[in-house]
Amino acid sequence: MLAHASLQELNARIVKCNLCPRLRAHCTEIARVRRRAYAEWEYWGKPVPSFGDPRARVLALGLAPGAHGSNRTGRPFTGDGSGDFLYPVLHEAGFASQRRAISREDGMKLHGLWITSVARCAPPGNKPTPEELRNCAPWLDEEMRLLTNLRVVVCLGRIAFDGLLAHLRRRAGVDGMPPRSSFAFAHGAEFALPNGWTAIASFHPSLQNTNTGRLTAEMLLAVFRRARQLAGL
Ligand code: SF4
Repeated sequence: MLAHASLQELNARIVKCNLCPRLRAHCTEIARVRRRAYAEWEYWGKPVPSFGDPRARVLALGLAPGAHGSNRTGRPFTGDGSGDFLYPVLHEAGFASQRRAISREDGMKLHGLWITSVARCAPPGNKPTPEELRNCAPWLDEEMRLLTNLRVVVCLGRIAFDGLLAHLRRRAGVDGMPPRSSFAFAHGAEFALPNGWTAIASFHPSLQNTNTGRLTAEMLLAVFRRARQLAGL
């Protein structure tokens, strides 16, 4: 219960974060201008809080909010093409209560899964700078500490994968980590981590990957089914 409350408090602090002027200006401007299809929406426009089951054994670690997806709706992977691809897979794998994620009020519940990202504000071109990733890293560190049941981290894309490794280096110290060369990113690759967790690397469910067939629903489902198995769910 305490960790649960603290995760809520952490999210409440995250939504007020202002550490990256470029990202905050970008999100605010997108929320002001809006896409024509969402002209009636009151965009979220703030850092996007994490979402899920506080007792999660599996973490899905993404890159950053989508400009007209979670920057609009205020919930990870909600309201854009990436989420339209991801949530049906999470539902099929038993982590999500429904296939459709359209808003914070759509009734979605996650079971055994927590979703977060290495940057919590939508970046121009989907590319946060190294400094912005470093700014956001303490939020991830605190979140990881509060997710006390965690066993498996699914990294959605290479930047998330690198973000997890950087987190582990901060946590264990450079000497506590195997060399970087032991962590070659490939879809479906698994890595036993020094702290007992398992990392699974996955391609990111961006439209760039899903529209080209680089990532299929079957490929992503296999990753989340494996995560479930490794987590003992
Ligand atoms: S990206 Fe992270 S550190 Fe930067 S302003 Fe957003 S929440 Fe704060």
